[in-house]
Amino acid sequence: MEFELIEWLAQRVPAHPSLRLGIGDDTALLAAAGETLVTVDMLNDLVDFDLRRDDPRRIGRKSLAVNLSDIAAMAGRPTAAVIALALPRTGGLALARELYEGLLPLAEQFGVALAGGDTNSWDGPLAISVTLLGAVSPRGALTRSGARPGDRILATGEFGGSILGRHFDFEPRVIAATALHARYDLHAGIDVSDGLSLDLHRICLASQCGAVLDLANIPISQAAVELAKQDGKSALEHALSDGEDFELLLAVPPEEARRIVAEQAVGVKVTDIGEFVTEAGLWSRASDGVRSPLAPKGYQHALS
Ligand code: ADP
Ligand code: MG
Repeated sequence: MEFELIEWLAQRVPAHPSLRLGIGDDTALLAAAGETLVTVDMLNDLVDFDLRRDDPRRIGRKSLAVNLSDIAAMAGRPTAAVIALALPRTGGLALARELYEGLLPLAEQFGVALAGGDTNSWDGPLAISVTLLGAVSPRGALTRSGARPGDRILATGEFGGSILGRHFDFEPRVIAATALHARYDLHAGIDVSDGLSLDLHRICLASQCGAVLDLANIPISQAAVELAKQDGKSALEHALSDGEDFELLLAVPPEEARRIVAEQAVGVKVTDIGEFVTEAGLWSRASDGVRSPLAPKGYQHALS
């Protein structure tokens, strides 16, 4: 099965200008200049998707998309991916092909070379690990640690309820991030993979500051509203704590933030949702201006 899959991949995967050697040798050979971003994300059956009901093409797409989101958070340009598959023995070959049929169009859309991978079969559930490389923008990598008190908190897109489908079909914010970083002065960035409040808290920790969220300004998705009707939590709570939005949070000096919000020139709505402050911690601010402490909430893998 492994050989058959690799044969199929070697035919199916398009050539890429920066791949001197792709699928077929012991390693790939990539032409690259300068600093390289490297990230890896693993998806597991019954954690990140459910193979009993989810289309394998959407799962394959997601496995690359989550990594594209990390490269976007650093304002980088994705270049090449290597992919490790642990396939269930039964039906593994057909499943792998479906995964790639979902993944390859996204790779092509973002100019990512599929440089190689590894294929195992076993008696356990499906696991997909994608390692993605990226080129650093001419202005350098955007990190989590550059937020300063007084910076505005900008967010792309809308939040909450991604479990209703957007966690598969989201658009990784690569183009928006690159455009913003090229045109405006950004201080810090993160992608929201685990929850708006939790990932905002992570920027605060890395930047040694705090943040105040203006609750009335948080863009709440229709899916969050739908989910709220089903489970009794408010749509705002969903927006603040649901995982897998894969939107960006940015720290931007106030004058620059005003321009970004006024110009709206990066293909996705950018909203000002609050500000970074000197005191460590997270607060919410209601429309009457009253601040209350806000516990960072979101998805965390349980470990003991
Ligand atoms: P080796 O045993 O030398 O590590 P493999 O037999 O695992 O090589 O892989 C052969 C070739 O197929 C390599 O170029 C590898 O990168 C590629 N490959 C194997 N599995 C995958 C996969 N799931 N996706 C993409 N490329 C793969
Ligand atoms: Mg080898």
